[in-house]
Amino acid sequence: MIIAIDGPSGAGKSTLGKMLAKKLNLLYIDTGAMYRAVALAVLLRGTGFDDEEEVVRFAESSEIELVGEPDALRILLNGRDVSAEIRTMEIAQAASIVSTFSEVRKIMVEHQRTLGEKDSNGCVLEGRDIGSVVFPNADLKFFLTAKPEARAQRRFTEDSRVSSYEQTLAEINERDERDVSRADSPLTIAENSVVIDTSELDLSEVFEQMLAAVRDKQDEVQ
Ligand code: C5P
Repeated sequence: MIIAIDGPSGAGKSTLGKMLAKKLNLLYIDTGAMYRAVALAVLLRGTGFDDEEEVVRFAESSEIELVGEPDALRILLNGRDVSAEIRTMEIAQAASIVSTFSEVRKIMVEHQRTLGEKDSNGCVLEGRDIGSVVFPNADLKFFLTAKPEARAQRRFTEDSRVSSYEQTLAEINERDERDVSRADSPLTIAENSVVIDTSELDLSEVFEQMLAAVRDKQDEVQ
């Protein structure tokens, strides 16, 4: 079973995606981490993002691996563990810039499809374009969303590196704007998605809703 989870940043996709993958014993693929790794590769070389061809070369030549169990997933860039390094606000913004380049997206999408088809049991993929582009025929598609204020509040509460609520909200709004307005694969609700607004729900309530949708799907195909 291939499960797609899309939505804006801070809607709970990673936490819930990992929970679902663990519960269903499926591979978990964090596609945002892949864009973040490309952004880190560019920044480490001291290259900016103005030269698109150069950024594409980084995307082509970087070896990005996702290893380990969902709740202990590690991201390797050219064999080096960069799991913590890619979680800064600077890298988040940089990832949203590199992800506007079509050639970068092409390379990432191909990589994601290869990873997703590796395990015959299926997988849970989380990102912005999974249900619309990467796996448009996914068995089940979720679109998790929440009000920007709720997402910023969560980030601020959960991440000790975040300096202020206002800064987090501004960062979220800036990334949302870039993600929904880019020409190639903008963030959108894919056809047949189960849409869940998580603003007023706690984690376990969202998880129960997602699990119920999975069970319905499983009953349908049996
Ligand atoms: O999900 P995460 O916040 O780690 O993603 C970082 C950035 O990568 C997003 O803001 C988005 O611009 C980009 N992204 C994307 N397509 C995906 C996953 C992430 O464009 N499938």
